[in-house]
Amino acid sequence: MKNINIAIDGPAGAGKSTIAKMVSKKLGYIYVDTGALYRTIALYITENNIPDDKIEEALPGADVSLRFIDGTQRVFLGDRDVSGLIRTPEISMAASHTSAIPAVRAYLFGTQQKIAAENNVIMDGRDIGTVVLPNADVKIFLTASAEERANRRYKELAEKPDCPSYQEILDDIIKRDYQDMHRETAPLKQAEDAVLVDTTHLDLEGSADAIIRVITDKIGSAE
Ligand code: C5P
Repeated sequence: MKNINIAIDGPAGAGKSTIAKMVSKKLGYIYVDTGALYRTIALYITENNIPDDKIEEALPGADVSLRFIDGTQRVFLGDRDVSGLIRTPEISMAASHTSAIPAVRAYLFGTQQKIAAENNVIMDGRDIGTVVLPNADVKIFLTASAEERANRRYKELAEKPDCPSYQEILDDIIKRDYQDMHRETAPLKQAEDAVLVDTTHLDLEGSADAIIRVITDKIGSAE
């Protein structure tokens, strides 16, 4: 039987990964965070000081892979688990820049399609419903206002040393949205057949419930 593929796209900080993780646990699907792949490429490029015009030829040396350890996704550069290292503001911005390069997208395309062909997946990203899995069984566009997304990120980071200000976080989010929506290759946009879920006024449980409802409406009782 064909595997079920659920695509969740949306801007940075809309809660895609947290909510998709909750939903995938409920459904027993694999959760695939494709942003981690772009972040890992950005880390590789940053660590090796590769200029933009040399990225294409350097990609085959990157050896990026996803592994699922106890059902949780980890990303590897060669044998090195870099899942923690990729979560810095610098790598967020670098990933937004390098992900606009068509060769980078082409390099990661096959990896994403193969995982979706072999498993029941909830895959989140920017172009999953539009480009990577155009035939996904369910497509969701998850969003929230930029201010609310910045507010959530600020609360998450507030306990940490060197926490950026709310305004810095908001500026980063607006800049990243702009870059992701205006690039030529696979820009962030809602697929025509995607269902819009706006979580500005929903908490995590409410957002997960809204998504489960969309899935159940499309493919019947998903559990
Ligand atoms: O989702 P996350 O914020 O971790 O993604 C980091 C960056 O990777 C995004 O800002 C975006 O530029 C890029 N990305 C992408 N396509 C995807 C997933 C992420 O271009 N499918």
